[in-house]
Amino acid sequence: MDTATTTTNLTDGMHILADALLKNGINKMYGVIGIPVTDVARIGQGDGIRYIGFRHEADAGNAAAAEGFLTGKPGLFVTVSAPGYLNGLAPLKAATVNGFPCIMMSGSSTRNIVDMGEGDYEGLDQLNYAKPFCKAAYRIDRPEDIALGVARAIRAASSGRPGGVYLDLPGEMLGATMDQAAADATLFEVVDPKPAMIPAQASIDRALDLLANAKQPLVYIGKGAALAQAEDEVNAFIEQTGIPYLAMSMAKGLIPDDNPLNSGSCRGATMRGADVVLLIGARLNWMLNFGIGKAWNPDVKFIQIDIDPTEIDNSRQIVAPIVGDIKSAMGLLLEGLKKIPVKAPQAWVDSLNEAKKVNVAKFATRTEADTVPMTHYNALGAVKKVMDMNPDVYLVNEGANTLDDCRDIVNIYKPRHRLDCGTWGVMGVGTGYAIGAAVTTGESVVSIHGDSAFGFDGMEVETACRYNLPIVFMVFNNGGIYRGDFENIGTDGDPSPLTLMASARYDKMIEAFGGVGYNATTPAEVEQMLTEALAAKKPALINVVIDIHTGKESGHIGNLNPVPVKGPLAPKPTA
Ligand code: ADP
Ligand code: MG
Repeated sequence: MDTATTTTNLTDGMHILADALLKNGINKMYGVIGIPVTDVARIGQGDGIRYIGFRHEADAGNAAAAEGFLTGKPGLFVTVSAPGYLNGLAPLKAATVNGFPCIMMSGSSTRNIVDMGEGDYEGLDQLNYAKPFCKAAYRIDRPEDIALGVARAIRAASSGRPGGVYLDLPGEMLGATMDQAAADATLFEVVDPKPAMIPAQASIDRALDLLANAKQPLVYIGKGAALAQAEDEVNAFIEQTGIPYLAMSMAKGLIPDDNPLNSGSCRGATMRGADVVLLIGARLNWMLNFGIGKAWNPDVKFIQIDIDPTEIDNSRQIVAPIVGDIKSAMGLLLEGLKKIPVKAPQAWVDSLNEAKKVNVAKFATRTEADTVPMTHYNALGAVKKVMDMNPDVYLVNEGANTLDDCRDIVNIYKPRHRLDCGTWGVMGVGTGYAIGAAVTTGESVVSIHGDSAFGFDGMEVETACRYNLPIVFMVFNNGGIYRGDFENIGTDGDPSPLTLMASARYDKMIEAFGGVGYNATTPAEVEQMLTEALAAKKPALINVVIDIHTGKESGHIGNLNPVPVKGPLAPKPTA
């Protein structure tokens, strides 16, 4: 037998991996390649897996996490060994903290050399380093185990509270051979990777009894409800009960933001007033003041729907836990309304409507203002107008004030159409999320970054141009972290630690790669340029020039900074 005939009956780890992924409907891979995973991407591409190559692993990881959030199925990214792998751990952990299904695969160096500490090329004990950074971690040591490893990764990432999974792929395993027919026999498709988890009827009845007797009920919708794709059930529940609701930032659009029961414009009053709160896939973490303190009614009672039983009583007592998946739980709650009707008292709804009127009028004077240089408010007021005309467009948002103000000003009308800094409040997720959203959905994306946030991952504009993605990046440029007018409180004359270049023309960056750059200095220009850029459906970047004096230090969470007791102290900014 000649060698050619022999090898045609053989396959290798890289081919089996592509087969196992495709068998499970994973047909996209984000990443940065090199030794030993170059052919993982090349072979995958040859077999029909769309490969999107990035400039930094963290951005590839964020793109995969975005796909996980948008589809409910794990997004996949690939990195090289040690340094590339370490860059991937931050998005892997962020995806896990956010509860987004996501799989990171990294090539790894020769086991026996790594384990003996002999100093291999990019040698690192990757499997063990990964464990605290994800929901589950596996190493596939033999080509026979590839299908099993892929299956375990898919199930761990998707089921229960979704999260990040790490798959370690030693170079020797990727190159190991196996008889083609024997390899084919290992392949299988995961059955029901995300099984329904039906809550107990008693927990449903207990919750409805509480809501039926509430004087000032509130529904708080979190990104868990978005992940669960429970928009039909959530909309029906609000419609039938008339309960005012608040949406966490990535739950915006699950119910269109212009719904009259949306109490976002009087969030504080709603939280301080509510006596019974139904949490639908929202954790009582820092973003909700742990459910305690001045932000809440001291007598508030919580009902919480969550798939993870250990989330209940996380930071305070939950009097009516509903443990199960949100779609099933909401279905049972709707069914239960026939037996235990719930209607929000009109006096509560009316009082919130009064509070909203006052706040909306106050806000409008800021978002409609013609002041130049622009503030976050009037620049975002212009963005809102364009987004109102384009409800299918996805919005990605990161920054401090750029995040806080955009969340409040720009409405979202469709489920899972807003991606942002998430549970950790991370900067540098935006361009990865934007690329992931554009690739996953084929729709246009507006990606709004503070100038500081954009600095972490701005190089990915090249990726957006290389794949000709319909993304409009907007850099809100006030020349600094938080704002551009802080002063050095020492004597060396360097810029302050918060200062960036207000004169920077971020629009020139995308022009270097063939995209379209814009420089906007007025609200009218923002509106016109964003409209034009979206219509073109091509990569574009708008440098949005805003006042160096606009924006609060640390946005809405300045209270998290420690307060110094002695000097030298920072002078108050001048605005
Ligand atoms: P937000 O930041 O919007 O408040 P969180 O990430 O804090 O949202 O909370 C989301 C919660 O939703 C998590 O506790 C997670 O366990 C839960 N969750 C995610 N998917 C589901 C699901 N399908 N069914 C029930 N709970 C879910
Ligand atoms: Mg800034």
